[in-house]
Amino acid sequence: MRIMVLAETQKALTELCAGASQISPQVEAVIIGDQLKVVADTIWYIPAQEYAMLEDYTESIAALIKQEKPELIIVEPTKRYKLIAGRIAAMLGTTVITDVLELEKDFVAKRMVYGGTAIRTEKVVSGSTIVMVGSGVLQSKSVTEVTVREERPVQFIEPKIRLKRIAREEKERVAVDLPGAKVVVGIGRGIAEQKDLEMIKQLALALKGEIGCTRPIAEAEKWMPKETYLGVSGLIIAPEVYIAIGISGQIQHTVGINRSKLIVSINKEKSAPIFKQSDYGIVGDLYKVLPALIKHFG
Ligand SMILES: Cc1cc2nc3c(=O)[nH]c(=O)nc-3n(C[C@H](O)[C@H](O)[C@H](O)COP(=O)(O)OP(=O)(O)OC[C@H]3O[C@@H](n4cnc5c(N)ncnc54)[C@H](O)[C@@H]3O)c2cc1C
Repeated sequence: MRIMVLAETQKALTELCAGASQISPQVEAVIIGDQLKVVADTIWYIPAQEYAMLEDYTESIAALIKQEKPELIIVEPTKRYKLIAGRIAAMLGTTVITDVLELEKDFVAKRMVYGGTAIRTEKVVSGSTIVMVGSGVLQSKSVTEVTVREERPVQFIEPKIRLKRIAREEKERVAVDLPGAKVVVGIGRGIAEQKDLEMIKQLALALKGEIGCTRPIAEAEKWMPKETYLGVSGLIIAPEVYIAIGISGQIQHTVGINRSKLIVSINKEKSAPIFKQSDYGIVGDLYKVLPALIKHFG
């Protein structure tokens, strides 16, 4: 059983290759240019082309898959790789399984459906199936040592239509490493004003944790970067401790945090659904509870 791995970021490439080595003896990474480094049984290098965008490598990757016929292709679900995966699947007549939460040795995938309200189990049966596996899904598996046995060049195939970059704008970098954090303080709409984030930062600092949030805090209020919201359409994390503050606990959020080892929630409503997912719950006004916690841990 061969698995090919495609990722845009170093962190995902390392994590996905390590995770793939737990379910297959043959892990092969596809690397464009020479920016990313990884340990895999085989590394396929596609030479970087001047002015080429990532999407311009779609034909080259599709031809490699067609030639090598790996059973599974694990892809980091970035916006650009989602597009590329769809195009490759159409070109090769194969399947893409998205939003994968678990991937087993026999290539059975559990994936979120209906916006995270249900989990469906699917078995990979078509040849060269593409699975989109996000951060944290394969992370908990221990790393099996694999060495680079061979490095092989891949011929670049000129795409029929090239994308033309007309401008380049640096995106503000988000320094937080939520998937790697041991403690995550998650905030929701129970926070009344943006200035109250100061209090959250104090708590996170005292607990040596990172701050995540619900989607409305990032997308509607824009108080936190989009990269920090947790859930079905955001990040999936598995910290030692997750502290949910002023979060109702809708399934679209909890699928992103329910792998946490310990969940502690603070909500003023006793009936808030988050308490059903929590190991410990504090029913109370966060504006009274948090100062006490900061005083205790600070
Ligand atoms: C297709 C789809 C995808 C989605 N994807 C995501 C996703 O990836 N991630 C995500 O987070 N959401 C997602 N959502 C949105 C999700 O359904 C919820 O609307 C959202 O998670 C709710 O955010 P919240 O808990 O911050 O706000 P609310 O649901 O408004 O909850 C606020 C909570 O704060 C409590 N509260 C208020 N004041 C206080 C106080 N002073 N002290 C203590 N508690 C207080 C309230 O009792 C309430 O429980 C998605 C929705 C859809 C339809």
